[in-house]
Amino acid sequence: MPWTLDDATWMNRAIGLAREGAVRPGMNPIGCVIVRNGEVIGEGCNEVDLHHDATAHAEIVAMRRAGQMLECQELRDAVLYTTLQPCGMCTMASIWAKIGRIVYGAGREDVHAMYFEDRHLDTVDFIRDAFRNDLSLEGGLMARECATLYVPPDADVPKDEQFNR
Ligand SMILES: [Zn+2]
Repeated sequence: MPWTLDDATWMNRAIGLAREGAVRPGMNPIGCVIVRNGEVIGEGCNEVDLHHDATAHAEIVAMRRAGQMLECQELRDAVLYTTLQPCGMCTMASIWAKIGRIVYGAGREDVHAMYFEDRHLDTVDFIRDAFRNDLSLEGGLMARECATLYVPPDADVPKDEQFNR
C-alpha cells in the first residue's frame, strides 16, 4: 500500500491518542483522528467506560466532535484514521457521515477476536454492500505498532473478560 507522509503523520497522532487512552481512567487504547484538507476536524480515543456508553468508540467520539465543530453531520472528503480496524457500528457511522476514506492500523487478524462483534462479517463487507461507492478502505498502516496496543490473537483471555461475550 503506497502510504503518504501525511498518512503516517496522522496515524502517529492516532497512536498518541491511543497511548493516552491506555493510561487515562475510563478510556481505552483506541485512537482516531479525522482530517480534512490537511486539518484535524475531530479526534478522540475510546471513552466507553468514561461515559457508560457502548457507542463511545474512538471513531464515534471523533465524528461527534467533528460534527459539533463544523455544525454539520456530513464529513465529505474527510479521512478517518484509526489504530484498530473499525467495528461494524463505526463502519456504518462512517458511511452515514459521508466520510471519504478510512485508514486503519491493526486489522482483525492482528488482534484478539474480542474486539469485534461478528464472527464473519467484516468492515470490508459493510463497505462493499453500501449504496455509496465513493468510500475507500485501506488497512495495515503501521499495523505492527498499532497491534502492540492490543491483546494478541492467540492470548488466553478468560471468557468473562472478553468484551464481545
Ligand atoms: Zn467501533
